Amino acid sequence: MPGKPDVSDDAEDRSGISADRRTFMGTVGAITGASALGGTALADDGDEKTEVGGEGSRTGGDAQNAILVIPDGAGQAHISGARYLKAYQEDSEAFPENVTPDGTTLNVDRADRIGGMSTQPDEPELLITDSGAAGTAMATGTKGYNGVIGGIGSEDDYTPVGTVLEAAHEAGMATGLVTTTRITHATPAAFATHVPDRGMEDEIARQYVENGNVDVLLGSGKRHFDPEERDDGEDMLARAEEQGYHVVETEAELADADDGKLLGLFGSESDRSAHMSYYVDREYVDDTDEPGLVEMTEKAIEVLSDCENGFFLMVESGRVDHQGHSHDNTITHEQLECDEAFGTVLDYAEDDDTPETFAMQVADHETGGMSLGWDAYDMDWAAIDEIRASLEHLDYAIEEAGYDRGATVDVVEAHTGLELTEGEIIDIVGGDLTNVLNKRTQMGWSSDSHTGEEVPSYASGPGAEHFGQYFDNTDVSVGIADALGLEFEPGREIDYEIRN
Ligand code: ZN
Ligand code: MG
Ligand code: ZN
Repeated sequence: MPGKPDVSDDAEDRSGISADRRTFMGTVGAITGASALGGTALADDGDEKTEVGGEGSRTGGDAQNAILVIPDGAGQAHISGARYLKAYQEDSEAFPENVTPDGTTLNVDRADRIGGMSTQPDEPELLITDSGAAGTAMATGTKGYNGVIGGIGSEDDYTPVGTVLEAAHEAGMATGLVTTTRITHATPAAFATHVPDRGMEDEIARQYVENGNVDVLLGSGKRHFDPEERDDGEDMLARAEEQGYHVVETEAELADADDGKLLGLFGSESDRSAHMSYYVDREYVDDTDEPGLVEMTEKAIEVLSDCENGFFLMVESGRVDHQGHSHDNTITHEQLECDEAFGTVLDYAEDDDTPETFAMQVADHETGGMSLGWDAYDMDWAAIDEIRASLEHLDYAIEEAGYDRGATVDVVEAHTGLELTEGEIIDIVGGDLTNVLNKRTQMGWSSDSHTGEEVPSYASGPGAEHFGQYFDNTDVSVGIADALGLEFEPGREIDYEIRN
């Protein structure tokens, strides 16, 4: 990573000094004690900043850092789709002959090991997971039920269990969560909070802030921190500042942020979903001041790499899943952005001047039963490349136009590059834009929800050897903890305060 000092060459050198100072916080130290853990120092501009990292001191593993990238809902077709889109964009003349290992490559191709992960939850007779159970399994090393965050049992009989992120914090490492969804959404929440139901997003926000054990939190979802919008009226924005977080809300503020604890809550208040924008809307449609996933990833690494004990970072491309649910062709653009973020991670991990870093990309499950091909042998990748607004954006624009025929045609043609046929116009005005676009591109979908297929994984650096085969989602945190040399017991039950 350019411009970052080498914080360490050798984890063992640093660890010797303070083996006896080691304070594993045990179970709930994190709740009440964590706010005091970060030290303070003066930033370059003279402002007080809160340093990242916990107060423990690692003995160190083979890897100094670990970065886990999760494209939520990405199966093999999503990866292939990103590859074909990139190949088309790089050289449309050579396409599709350039879709070979000698042609266009993705960043996932740089990984040392490729494997496949099973994703089923702890649900009798169910093979298919939601993101809560999936994130929980990946973060805690033990399986939970659908809808759970950071625990096991059932909604009525819930037991919180510790996560690999918490273990990293307790060992003195810096930690971070980055996502394009609300930061209170299931995947990031499963790494650092504990609630029986993923819908308890106000409480998830409160836990992040009160625990203070995630140094960098970047995503959306200000509504769950804002006293005006929280059910309990508590001001989690002010509380976050008291806890040493610098709160930023725009791309420019993120770029300007000094090192130290950081809470980024992006996306305008008028956002329909309160998630960040889809990649295509952010890039081509909306006049947005949101950062992209790559910029958030770069900033998180820059801040977290200040910690001499190393860092754990989870980066989620969280809206791939949403586009799988809605059968949106621009899922390929979203997945390609995720691949760029993974490239940023690998650039850091592979740099000779940075410490040994484990890096991995793996989804939590597949969404949509996406297929490359519907009922013909040829797909239209020129059309897929040209569709540069999300279905969500187009649907709202059509609705805003009152399904007026002329306005609808204008909106769709302007954002897709298509010349619509009479039949297509009738279908679109009748509310069937999704089908029209998929028929054009020949992208196929077999589910409105998640599917049970195993998902592809890509791992590099020390610890990658755990992921070069077929493995289970509960193996992710165990392998990461091993690479980092963390004390980590999968499924360790913890005492924990949960409010409503
Ligand atoms: Zn998911
Ligand atoms: Mg997610
Ligand atoms: Zn989903």
